[in-house]
Amino acid sequence: MPRPIYAEIDAQALTHNLKRVRALAGNREVWAVVKANAYGHGLDNAVKAFEGAEGLATIDLDDAARARSYGWTKRILLLEGFFDAADLEPLAQLNVETIIHSDWQIAILKASGVSPVGVHIKVNTGMNRLGFAPDDVNRVKAELAAIPGVTILSIVTHFANAEPSYLAEKPTSVSKQLTRLSPAMDGTVPGCMANSAAILWRPEVEGTSVRAGVALYGVSPDHHVTSEELGIIPAMTLAARIIAVQNVAEGETVGYGARWTAKRPSRIAVVACGYADGYPRTMPDGAPTWVNGKIAPLVGAVSMDMLEIDITDIPDADVGSLVELWGKNLPVNRVAQACGTIGYELICALALRVPLTLKA
Ligand SMILES: *Cc1c(COP(=O)(O)O)cnc(C)c1O
Repeated sequence: MPRPIYAEIDAQALTHNLKRVRALAGNREVWAVVKANAYGHGLDNAVKAFEGAEGLATIDLDDAARARSYGWTKRILLLEGFFDAADLEPLAQLNVETIIHSDWQIAILKASGVSPVGVHIKVNTGMNRLGFAPDDVNRVKAELAAIPGVTILSIVTHFANAEPSYLAEKPTSVSKQLTRLSPAMDGTVPGCMANSAAILWRPEVEGTSVRAGVALYGVSPDHHVTSEELGIIPAMTLAARIIAVQNVAEGETVGYGARWTAKRPSRIAVVACGYADGYPRTMPDGAPTWVNGKIAPLVGAVSMDMLEIDITDIPDADVGSLVELWGKNLPVNRVAQACGTIGYELICALALRVPLTLKA
């Protein structure tokens, strides 16, 4: 018997979410973002489920090679571009397009003589992470256009604050970024601006393509809005079984550091999921899990391979019962919030040792 933990990936949810994103994207093309093992869902599963997308976007050439080996023949884009001159040969061989965000990349392209290569110019409009200043874009275009074999395919920017709850704090941030972008958009090169949040909430962000990540996996980019409200379906359900039950007397503690103390005689279930599976050790007492239709609170510190929950009020839960850590019944954003992070981090950090089971 394998250890009783798995992440079920719902293939129909993935394809449904792609349809939903496509409807919101209008006539813009859809790059399905599949970095971090398709946000933990398995690159192979994503390649199949997103076959209707125009392209895959990732950050690792190795992903591109794997996607090709799974049969992906359409476009692939490296969102951070190449990292080294040695990347250019496989880039051309695999027919992968690349972001250009810095002058050092242009210098490598000039020196390499490797071609052909399709490039996308990244513009920093206020995220202040990757990209050229808007004023530099004409110079960058001219330099790239002069390199034999290089084709400029789009102008790309990335929003810092397209989520409604971020925007509530900084209401002008998207419009400020769009204003800064406008001198770089002279109508000759297509634009690729929107991430999931901008696709969902900022219809004024136009362009000819979008880069959809978290929404494709059925997770809301903003934890104040549910997946249901957005018409998307969570595709990952992380579940593990109860492998032991302890009857704990009042005053006894549970787990490392004796963090949690029973205030009443308690039935404590031991679940086969720990921080080595990607369930954060920072999760506090009271964090929700879901078992037999009810919420069971986490009690005590998460161990490497196990965690404990209080099932005193769920008498039908017992050894063998399946506990949902997050998924269709328990939104990953709600779980993430309990330990001060976002759903993105939990799904992406799912450990490789957790088997992915595909539900067709
Ligand atoms: C990860 C990423 C995306 C996708 O973001 P979501 O919020 O998951 O939709 C889009 N663009 C870039 C540059 C990214 O790195």
